[in-house]
Order: sequence, then C-alpha cells, then structure tokens
Amino acid sequence: MLAISSTASSMRSLPPVHYRIFPKSPQAHLFEITCAVTDPDPEGQRFALPTWIPGSYLIREFARHVVSIHAQSGRKALPIAKLDKHTWITAPTEGPVSVSMGVYAFDLSVRGAHLDTSHGFFNGPSVFLRPMGKEQRACEVDILRPTGARYRNWRVATAMRRAGTPAYGFGTYRAADYDELIDHPVEMGEFTLATFKACGVPHDIVVTGQHNADMDRLCRDLKTLCEWQIRLFGEPAPMDRYVFLATAMGEGYGGLEHRASTALLCSRDDLPQPGMKEPTESYRTFLGLCSHEYFHTWNVKRIKPAAFAPYDLERENYTTLLWAFEGITSYYDDLALVRCGLISQQDYLEILGKSVTNLLRSLGRMKQTVVEASWDAWIKYYRQDENSPNALVSYYLKGSLIALCLDLLIRNRTRGRKSLDDVMLALWQRHGQTGVGVPENGVEQLAEEIAGTRLRGFFDRALRSTDELPLKQWLATVGLEMQLRPAESASDKGGKPSKKPPRELAARVTLGARTGEDTAGVRLTHVLDGGAAQAAGLSAADVLIAIGGLRTNARNLDKRLAQYKPGERVAVHGFRRDELFERSVVLQGAPTDTCSLAVSGTDATSRRRREHWLGKE
Ligand SMILES: [Zn+2]
Repeated sequence: MLAISSTASSMRSLPPVHYRIFPKSPQAHLFEITCAVTDPDPEGQRFALPTWIPGSYLIREFARHVVSIHAQSGRKALPIAKLDKHTWITAPTEGPVSVSMGVYAFDLSVRGAHLDTSHGFFNGPSVFLRPMGKEQRACEVDILRPTGARYRNWRVATAMRRAGTPAYGFGTYRAADYDELIDHPVEMGEFTLATFKACGVPHDIVVTGQHNADMDRLCRDLKTLCEWQIRLFGEPAPMDRYVFLATAMGEGYGGLEHRASTALLCSRDDLPQPGMKEPTESYRTFLGLCSHEYFHTWNVKRIKPAAFAPYDLERENYTTLLWAFEGITSYYDDLALVRCGLISQQDYLEILGKSVTNLLRSLGRMKQTVVEASWDAWIKYYRQDENSPNALVSYYLKGSLIALCLDLLIRNRTRGRKSLDDVMLALWQRHGQTGVGVPENGVEQLAEEIAGTRLRGFFDRALRSTDELPLKQWLATVGLEMQLRPAESASDKGGKPSKKPPRELAARVTLGARTGEDTAGVRLTHVLDGGAAQAAGLSAADVLIAIGGLRTNARNLDKRLAQYKPGERVAVHGFRRDELFERSVVLQGAPTDTCSLAVSGTDATSRRRREHWLGKE
C-alpha cells in the first residue's frame, strides 16, 4: 500500500545486492555475513552499519560487534579501510565487490542479534551492511543452516518474502530495498509454530524457548484482536502476511514493531496455560504487548513522522511526535482488548487506574513535557538512571492518557459522532496509504479537523506544559470517577480500591525512595525529590541495614516502617560505598498517588457514552 517513489521503481531494474548470512559458530556466538555488489562505486564502494534500529530510539553502535571484516573482488583480496566508527570503503575496482564480516551476536533482546546452540535471531541493522548509494536496490539474502547434526531440525521464521525457498526453510529470501531488508527480523531454531488467518491474511505465531502454552487459545485470541485492528483501519490489511516472533523465558518483557512482524520477549508464564478460562493478569499483559506491536503496523511503520521518512540510520532522528506514535499506540493496545471482548470492562478500568497511578508517581511529569520527552528520548528515556523518576515523564504513559482525554473530548464535542478512531483513520488515509510523513503539527491539525473545533488550549496544556492532565473532567463525561488514596504497600500498583480503612492508609509512612534487594539489606535505587530519604541526606546506591535498631531487608522493610507514624523520627543505619553511616530520618505520610476508577454515572446518558466508547458489557 505504500507509494513507491519513481527513483525507487527505476532502481529496481538494477542488479540486486546479494547477502549471505551463515551462523558460523553458534558456540562462539558468531555470524558470518557477506554483502556483494556487482557494480560498485568506481571511486571505492562505501559500506555502513546503522547506528540504531528504528522503533528503539537509542544510538546502539551495532558496528561495535563487528569482529572481523575483509573485502574481495572476484578471487582477489581488496583493501578495505575504515572511515569512521561504522563506515568502511573498499579500494577502487571495476569488478564486483564482496565484503565479509564476522559479527558477535550475544544480545538476547528484541533489538540486536543472538546466536547460540539453542537458536539464532537477528535484526537486519546489526548484521547487514548498507552499500551506500545503492539503498534502493532489491536485496537477496541466502540464510544458511549452521553446520552439524545438532541443527538438522532447525527452521527459519521471518516475514521476509521467500525466493524459491520452502516455507520455514533455509534458503534465499528477498526484500524490495535496504529499508525493507532490515525491517524483517529472522528467528532460526526448533520453535513452536501455529498459524491462523485474520481477515484472510495468514498470521504465524512462533515461540522460541521452553514453554507450555495453549497455542490454540493464543491463535483464537490473536485472531480476534488482529481482525479488530484491521477493521479499525479498514480492509484490506496493509501486509500480505504477519509473524509474531516470541521468545519465552523465565522473566522478560519487551517488543519491537516491524512492517509485517514483531519480535517479542515474554515470561513463559505470561503465555496462556492449558485449561485457563478468564485471562490471567499476566496473559492480559502479553495480549496488551501483542496488541501494541500490532497497532504499530499502521501507527509508526506506515503512518510515520516526517522526521522518519526516510530514517537517517547514521544518527538521532528528532521528533516531538512520540507522544502520538507511542502514546496513542499505548492507549489503543489495551482499549482494543476490551473493545474486541478479550478482557472485561472491569479489567480495563483496572488497567487505566494503574496507568493513572503510574503517572501520579512519576515526579518527572512536573519537569518534562511529553514533547520534550519525545525529542530527548535518545538521551533520557532510553538512558534511564537513578534520577529518572525525578526528571522524566514517559511519552508512552502520559501519551496514552493524553490520547484517552483527546478521545473523550472529541466524542464530547461531536456528541458521539466522531472519536479518536476517526483521527486514526484520517491519518491512515492521508499519511499511511500515501507514504507522506506526518508533519510535527499534523496530528493536532487532523484532530481539530475531525472534532470540528479548535483544540489549541487542550494540546498546549497536554503536550507543551507540565500541568496535570484534565483526566477527572473527561472521565466524568463517561460516568467515571477517579478515586485517589495512599498506597497500601510498596507493591500496591493501584487500579483497585483498598479494603483498608482510610485512616489506616493515611497513617502509612514512606521513605520517599524506591528500593531493591541487596545481600546486605535494602538498596535505595531511586531517591525521590522532596521525600524523607532525600531530606535526611540518603542517596541512591546506599544500602540500609537497620531501621530503628532492627535489621532490615527488602522483604521486611514495609513491616519495619509500619511501626512508625508520619512525622516520627527514626535512626537508620546503612552503608554508603563501604562506609557505615547513621542518619536520622523524619518519616513522611504516604502520598495520595494511587488511583482506581469507579462507575459513578449510572444514568442512561453516561451508560450510553461508556458503551459507545468501550463496547457493550
Ligand atoms: Zn511502541
């Protein structure tokens, strides 16, 4: 569905760039990759590796994993020199050029490459050189099987088009250009595979790693979800097949979107277990992750900020729009689950309540706007440290709640005739289907057009200020009330009302710090601005060993603190580096930062609006 520019189509008749990727030594985590160009630049052909992978806004320097590189022309070795950290140039030659490199692959994330004796996985940006000036050429890739009997049963899973290769086989694959080549991650190994069709489009779900998932249930639920999303933007779907590539492990969570697939990391317990009836909280989380990445098939992979059209793979690509591309996607990920009936409205309101709680606990929302958060994603959101809760706001989290307010606002202003769905559809038709990037003010303008009214005041407050979002006001239009209270315990994530009496909650004290386990006691991971710990001079990385003269650790910290009242002074012992210290801490009452949503409007109008928004219960 994407428009192909005229230069791109005329380049298609030129000789393709040929790649070969060989898992040369799974034991040593080593891929060997060759890139061959038949008509190199006569002045010397330049090759570069991307510094980042689209969708994950951090300079990752994939070139740092290149352990060897050499070039040849025909059978003769050809000198190759390095121009900068990620660019090489071959000596001038008239013949074809082929560059081979060894890449160390030991990044078990969704963003890099990983190879061992149990499986292989790679994203194009970490393994495929970009022959500069030839990015529009068609690409052919031979994906080879590792040598040895151990790998006899390995298969290949990817959304890349096969070129005469049997389904799930090793062999030749094809991409229209470099941009497409690096947008199809590849998994190889002995994975579980299940397939289903959504609106007639074949979908694969591939699970690597030990697991006991009910694959039929997974297919059924994902089909429901995918069909809902395809119909939201309108049939036909923009891809002719789609692949969910999931790696199941003990603990893990993450995903990265691609044009016709997604790479996911999940905990094996998040997958649906045989016999499960109502979705468990962890399965809801997994479905939310699948929903998020699938929504990106439209929102960011095809509807793109102008700043990403095309991507500059050498350096940071700045945009203020991640609140829309990640935030709106985060709003729809769970909303899609309730609208298509996979979770109950009660579950959805609990998820929303947790999101509001999360935002209220993020002090950085008072320092950074979402527009700033988006621009600085490269140096802040993706490079979090001990001060991040004080300094950052998540454009995912606040962006999703801005999308919620915007949706309810548009519904209100248009008396239910329009909604954020119409904005997404217009974005799809004007930008996604045409390939025209969204200008920095494009989402705001389209929303005003759909709402039929100026929304400058709303956007200035939500996007360009650190004022609190008008959540209370807009939730009230669908008969929902935000109920706020102090947290019951350090593990209370909100979303549900507390069973404890308000007086008991108000008497709870906190240190004003986030904590983690340490063999010696409790480690302060983050010290919050304005909290008791900061006032007493405690610092991140301090390890507390006793409170009020009694030994403390991560398990008993809540119990120790429960002995005190707000305003009380207590002696705290701990280590800073290897030096013992004692501090006197004046404990504070727990802040009112925990939210649950209650249905307050039971009148017909509120009910009708809620139904219109979330679907019939
Ligand atoms: Zn995302």
